[in-house]
Amino acid sequence: MLAVLLFAAIPALAQEPATISVLERREIALDSGAGMAGSELRLTLAYLDGSGWTLEAIAAAANESARILRQCGLALKTAELIRVAAPGRFHDFSTPLSRQLAAALQLRKPTIYFVAGTRQRPAFDAEAIGRGNSRTRPELRDTVWITRGACDLAVTLAHELTHVLMDSGEHADEPGNLMREETAPGNTQLSVVQCARLRENATANGLLSLP
Ligand SMILES: [Zn+2]
Repeated sequence: MLAVLLFAAIPALAQEPATISVLERREIALDSGAGMAGSELRLTLAYLDGSGWTLEAIAAAANESARILRQCGLALKTAELIRVAAPGRFHDFSTPLSRQLAAALQLRKPTIYFVAGTRQRPAFDAEAIGRGNSRTRPELRDTVWITRGACDLAVTLAHELTHVLMDSGEHADEPGNLMREETAPGNTQLSVVQCARLRENATANGLLSLP
């Protein structure tokens, strides 16, 4: 009986990668950035193989987010899409394990990680880590973590990325603003003041390249 059980367990174990590695890197073009002369923002989009994320869903969200951020004069022309293999314990966001994941991968920042879920409490569908909230976890600086539970993916991506670029956890109250605490499909506007702060802080933190 024991032999049968052990044998049955082998296929399941074999499917889990033993280490963290990059399976595939590909450059994707973001059409909204074509011909724009603004400051260039190059995103790294990393997703965990087996977490349920697809290349198509991520590319579509990145394209829509690029259109949203264009109002601040940011040109997102290309992004690097990276498929990552990692043991199952790394598929959810958690500060100790995600620090190990980011340290092992050493990806260019800002990095958006597309993960299965979160083990953090309180549990957020998406989290942004800038300078101010990364002092005790420097590996996570300038990263965003988006779970499969996130609604309005493109708006969520643009909202969390704006937290990182502005290096601020602040929210706005104005109707239709991207930085309202609750993300919604119609909330995509940024004010002139927000855009100025975003460009200033993102440039100071080395996240934008000037034209
Ligand atoms: Zn927020």
